[in-house]
Amino acid sequence: MHEIVIVGGGAGGLELATRLGDRLGRKKRANITLIDASPSHLWKPLLYEVAAGSLDSYAERLEYLAQG
Ligand SMILES: Cc1cc2nc3c(=O)[nH]c(=O)nc-3n(C[C@H](O)[C@H](O)[C@H](O)COP(=O)(O)OP(=O)(O)OC[C@H]3O[C@@H](n4cnc5c(N)ncnc54)[C@H](O)[C@@H]3O)c2cc1C
Repeated sequence: MHEIVIVGGGAGGLELATRLGDRLGRKKRANITLIDASPSHLWKPLLYEVAAGSLDSYAERLEYLAQG
């Protein structure tokens, strides 16, 4: 089985890992591994709202384990 390792679960890495997981991982055609320095993803365009205090960054985060 192929091993695919994606470093960085940002906008690009998270989408890639999700698509490859759906397309290949579910059919056992590849193992998809996502590595990130953080346990969760926060969509960066929301950072303005976090800085303004109008958004709770913890409530808006996506946990990588949950996505997996
Ligand atoms: C405030 C703000 C507003 C924005 N608004 C828009 C917008 O309106 N429209 C738009 O199209 N784009 C916008 N962008 C840009 C958009 O967010 C980026 O283009 C996009 O996030 C880049 O995606 P990426 O996957 O390359 O990197 P990122 O999303 O930055 O992800 C990088 C990931 O790599 C991880 N990482 C970094 N170093 C390591 C390491 N050494 N080891 C392990 N993991 C690591 C990080 O934790 C992170 O999860 C905005 C950006 C910001 C900051």
